[in-house]
Amino acid sequence: GKDKKKLGIALVGLGGYSSGQLAPGLQDAENCYLAGIVTGTPAKEKEWMEKYNIPKKNVYNYENFDSIAKNKDIDIVYVVLPNSMHAEFCIRAAKAGKHVICEKPMAVSVEECDSIIHACNEAGVKLAVGYRMQSDPYTKEIKRLVKEKPYGDVRYVSSDAGYISGGNPDQWRLNHALSGGGALMNMGVYSIQSNIYGTGQNPISVSAQEFSSRPEYFKDTDETITAQMEFPNGVVGNLYTSHNANANRLFVSFEKGWAELNPCHSYGPLSGRTSDGNEIKFPHQSMQKLQMDDFAKHIMLGTTNYAPGEMGKRDMIIVEAIYKSIKEGGTKIP
Ligand code: NDP
Repeated sequence: GKDKKKLGIALVGLGGYSSGQLAPGLQDAENCYLAGIVTGTPAKEKEWMEKYNIPKKNVYNYENFDSIAKNKDIDIVYVVLPNSMHAEFCIRAAKAGKHVICEKPMAVSVEECDSIIHACNEAGVKLAVGYRMQSDPYTKEIKRLVKEKPYGDVRYVSSDAGYISGGNPDQWRLNHALSGGGALMNMGVYSIQSNIYGTGQNPISVSAQEFSSRPEYFKDTDETITAQMEFPNGVVGNLYTSHNANANRLFVSFEKGWAELNPCHSYGPLSGRTSDGNEIKFPHQSMQKLQMDDFAKHIMLGTTNYAPGEMGKRDMIIVEAIYKSIKEGGTKIP
């Protein structure tokens, strides 16, 4: 639908993120709307149809999903499933001729990221990763400070992303087959993202360490990881990610000052400040709304794709290098 004003989105997987953030964000969106759902839980079909006024013909399950190809109401398929299911459903969506948003982390391996990118290119559809912060004004302000250099060049970045995981030890995030990894896959990708936009560069090498204090709970996945990254020109980046501590911060040290976001990686309102005593402050808006509107505009108007598939793949290359470094010691990023 090039001439349609709002593109139709179908959410795949109606769990916490779809119901708590994406569906509500879509209620305020200007360039897209919640047109359909794909769920494996029959009880959710009726609930969502009623709540969001979704017609039965736009409701799918994981088996009949491929017939979405024939549905003109659906322009974009948004995959919000456990990580190890992203590749399969993104590829099926692309083959159905739909544009694709894939939640973070993009997949559980670089190889899977490549297969998603390949499928979208083959089908001639657009692809974005669910990196909501790329559409957020706080992230854009840090990027501006890095680029315009009012405090000079960046020398050091430190970024933390974690929360204390509890409850059901069988949840998919703690199950390697479904998650592909623990804190690093879940929260660490945020810290990789903010290290990169906070330095304005990609890292060239990494040295990482893993810590564990509750092995009986984290049987299958990493609990806490720290990593030191080397960026070009001697810039240093520090990453902390955990399922065992609350941490939500970005600190950027420039030659002549600093900037900080804290909180940084959550849904907002975010909060920031700089070394000269100024607040970094923007009116609070749903990041998910901004993100999905940006992608719809990218499709309709050719504006910037702020979180293309290549960015998700880049981050997965770093994730794999971090896991490799933990196994082997300091490792060069390919
Ligand atoms: P939930 O566990 O809350 O929901 C996942 C949903 O996937 C389930 O409700 C279910 O939906 C479906 N599903 C299908 N097969 C399985 C399975 N074997 N095990 C569990 N669920 C299954 O997860 P979230 O919504 O929190 O996360 C989903 C994705 O979104 C993840 O990739 C996560 O990393 C990402 N995410 C991104 C965030 C962001 O800020 N960008 C924030 C939170 C999550 P149904 O019943 O409809 O079939």
